[in-house]
Amino acid sequence: MPQSIPSEFLAIDRKARALSPCDQISLRPAEERVRDFNEVIIPMGAECAQIAASRCIHCPDPAGCVVACPTHNDIPSAMWLIEQGDFLAAANLYQETSSLPEVCSRVCPHEALCQGACVLVKSGDPVLTGYLESFVMDFAREMGLISIPVGEPTGKRVAIVGAGPAGLGCAEQLVRKGHQVTVFESKPEAGGLLVYGIPNFKLTKDVVINRIRDLQKVGVEFVFNTYIGKDKTIDQLLAEGYEAVFVGVGTQVDAPLKVEGSRLPGVFPATEFLIRTNVLEHYLPQDMPHMEKVGNKVVVIGGGDTASDALRSALRLGAKEVTCLYRRTEREMPGGKKDRQMAREEGARYQFLTQPIRFLANDDGQLAAVECLRMELGEPDESGRRRPVPVEGSNFIVECDTVVLALGYWPDPVIGDTTPELETHNWGLIVTNPETGATTRPGVFAGGDAVTGPDLVVTAMYAGRKAAASIDEYLKSK
Ligand SMILES: Cc1cc2nc3c(=O)[nH]c(=O)nc-3n(C[C@H](O)[C@H](O)[C@H](O)COP(=O)(O)OP(=O)(O)OC[C@H]3O[C@@H](n4cnc5c(N)ncnc54)[C@H](O)[C@@H]3O)c2cc1C
Repeated sequence: MPQSIPSEFLAIDRKARALSPCDQISLRPAEERVRDFNEVIIPMGAECAQIAASRCIHCPDPAGCVVACPTHNDIPSAMWLIEQGDFLAAANLYQETSSLPEVCSRVCPHEALCQGACVLVKSGDPVLTGYLESFVMDFAREMGLISIPVGEPTGKRVAIVGAGPAGLGCAEQLVRKGHQVTVFESKPEAGGLLVYGIPNFKLTKDVVINRIRDLQKVGVEFVFNTYIGKDKTIDQLLAEGYEAVFVGVGTQVDAPLKVEGSRLPGVFPATEFLIRTNVLEHYLPQDMPHMEKVGNKVVVIGGGDTASDALRSALRLGAKEVTCLYRRTEREMPGGKKDRQMAREEGARYQFLTQPIRFLANDDGQLAAVECLRMELGEPDESGRRRPVPVEGSNFIVECDTVVLALGYWPDPVIGDTTPELETHNWGLIVTNPETGATTRPGVFAGGDAVTGPDLVVTAMYAGRKAAASIDEYLKSK
């Protein structure tokens, strides 16, 4: 809690604050936003931000929002600073606990984290914590006042493999400690799924690229188009003089749907589809040209955030009918409600309890339809969700020009396969000590989706930060 909050305020003012009216997040109208890939959220003005922040009732420590935030941002103090109009101090406060506050504030599922833990959620109007974090970070960026403090040079070199949120979080913390950092990245630009996955309408690429440029300015070196495990190994990096390695390679392999016709032209894995529809020309990998057209009818198979992103991208490319097929009911869908609601507003339709069993081609060999079966829910499976069971003889056809498979992600086992003594499990996820991020190979640390499986930007970034603290300890002890 910042010292400047007068204690008498806390005693008398809580009720009035809780009852003060709440502005909702402003979104561009669905019929307008679906015509472009620009951000959907309309930025807040300074006065609105101050009013919105003044609704925070400053719960006694530990406040629910702080506990629910994976990086434990000091949200109540930030709300106080915003209320006072000290936006730069609030931006600095977020940067103490987060390496990507301008990103997390846009893509975190706030309703399930800080905002969901706000006591005002009971009245239906929690404090708009994520939205306010974006506001102050954008304010500081516009003022040119975001910079990363660099520590006294230690002369130690650390290699980071993968420039996603985990790698970027680790790099940011290591330069603050004075270590020399080189990030090896297989793609032509940094950002991981922030650039090569999450669409522009949720997270405009400038926001990510600005942060990468900040890291470059303070000396972080990026080596692009280099696939560790193929172009060089972790052992080679250690032999080149890097004293520690952090692995943040995410889970890059799209889960397949092993049914007839899944290799027909027009059937795309979600990653390829999102990269080719969303990524700017000059960041595109060579083998993935920009996709201009998707036809009139697009089917997306899956129930996570990736499915919502693919549905919304297809609508923006002019598809007339965009349908999500999911084998359970909406209740079991893993993706966030907020994204699904926006997809629906923009015109996406959902068919639940539907399992695709075959893709069908027309006479030209092009994708024409997907054959499906109706499902019903049986007993819960090992995930605790009720198992979908086919209804015999319920086959039906959904016509389509394009299909996107958004069925989840697997790790690429290449790092485990090429690094002696590095233990992996579940098809290639890296085993670490959860407290330190240390792997079974001395000097090699890991974090993010490569360790946990597909998760969130904020948890990956936090894992990178935590591992950086352990790497610093490890380097000091050497
Ligand atoms: C379509 C989509 C939408 C999502 N939406 C959200 C959202 O709204 N909110 C949210 O919180 N999370 C979302 N997520 C999840 C989130 O993006 C991930 O959890 C997060 O990016 C994981 O970070 P990471 O650094 O572990 O891995 P990644 O972001 O996957 O980054 C890994 C990096 O390593 C590189 N790499 C891989 N292998 C190698 C190698 N061998 N050598 C060199 N480089 C390598 C990759 O090219 C990549 O740049 C979404 C995911 C997807 C796929």
